[in-house]
Amino acid sequence: MAAVGTVVRSRPPWIMESGCAASGCAVTRCTSPTAVRAPTAVRAPTAVRFGPVSARGCAASGGAAGPGPYARRVRIDLHTHSTASDGTDTPAELVRQAKAAGLDVVALTDHDTAAGWAEAAAALPAGLTLVPGTEFSCAWFGPNGVRIGLHLLGYLYDPDDAELQAERRRLRESRRGRGQAIVNNLRADGIPVTWERVAELAGDGTVGRPHIGQALVEAGVVDSLDEAFADLLSSRSKYYVRKADMDVFVALRLINAAGGVTAFAHPLARRRGPVVGDEVIADMAAAGLDGIEVDHPDHSFADRAHISDVAANLGLIPLGSSDYHGRNKAVRLGACTTSPEAYADLLARNTASSPIVFTT
Ligand SMILES: [Zn+2]
Ligand SMILES: [Zn+2]
Repeated sequence: MAAVGTVVRSRPPWIMESGCAASGCAVTRCTSPTAVRAPTAVRAPTAVRFGPVSARGCAASGGAAGPGPYARRVRIDLHTHSTASDGTDTPAELVRQAKAAGLDVVALTDHDTAAGWAEAAAALPAGLTLVPGTEFSCAWFGPNGVRIGLHLLGYLYDPDDAELQAERRRLRESRRGRGQAIVNNLRADGIPVTWERVAELAGDGTVGRPHIGQALVEAGVVDSLDEAFADLLSSRSKYYVRKADMDVFVALRLINAAGGVTAFAHPLARRRGPVVGDEVIADMAAAGLDGIEVDHPDHSFADRAHISDVAANLGLIPLGSSDYHGRNKAVRLGACTTSPEAYADLLARNTASSPIVFTT
């Protein structure tokens, strides 16, 4: 059984680890081993391990290496997707996988929905803390009609907030309409994919291009999702239809008003399209942005170093996350992680709800 626990509002004196295993980046900081203890509100993680601390630091993620002989490896992944959007694990499977991957804290952040929260909470294993969140599809609108898409993570906001709910509904419906439009474009060229099958694959979740890709694989049009995304479903494809997105400053206002905390997801993931400049990140910080992903599988080491500096200059909390999508992407749960220090800073800023912990 899972229940809403108490927010850890003070910075826990844990040994910290953050970084990105996927890219070989691992940051370890430590305090005295005698200071290791878990906050009383959270059941002590069973996956805690003790072992030698590497003296290696990681400038890329802003961390400093600690020389202590032992470290408690608290692992926090604040960005994952389930079948409630375009991941392949159900929310229940996802929390079980997170536990199996040795995570202590996992955030479920499906695209434009909170639909997976309840199932994930109900299936929460002992020793794992769940941070309910959503990855909002947003856009920054600049001068002369410039529009740059970006993703904003909102954590621990009130899911019943009326204004935010209305905006979420609008985005979900627009994604469905957009999925249908892409399918119609493909069918107009004789490509054998049906909306019925795509909708079936999406189930109750938000329709995304991976569902269309899966239908294309099933129909034998392409051999893999990667092939579908490289060609027919690419944003450069003639079949592509753009999503309707929320203005990022509206999103910041709504999430903050609903008591949540925010983080800019993969700000330098250029392979997804154009990215905003540092001056836009500064405007977002001034508009209430709390954190920013530094360690993300789509960021190079140079990107991480740059965003780490930007975060330090703007007082943004530096995060690291895998952006796990199950079998839809190669990245594993916990491939990039957030330090407990940053996690505690993030929790200290939220006012609406608390992470969910397992209780007996
Ligand atoms: Zn994203
Ligand atoms: Zn994501």
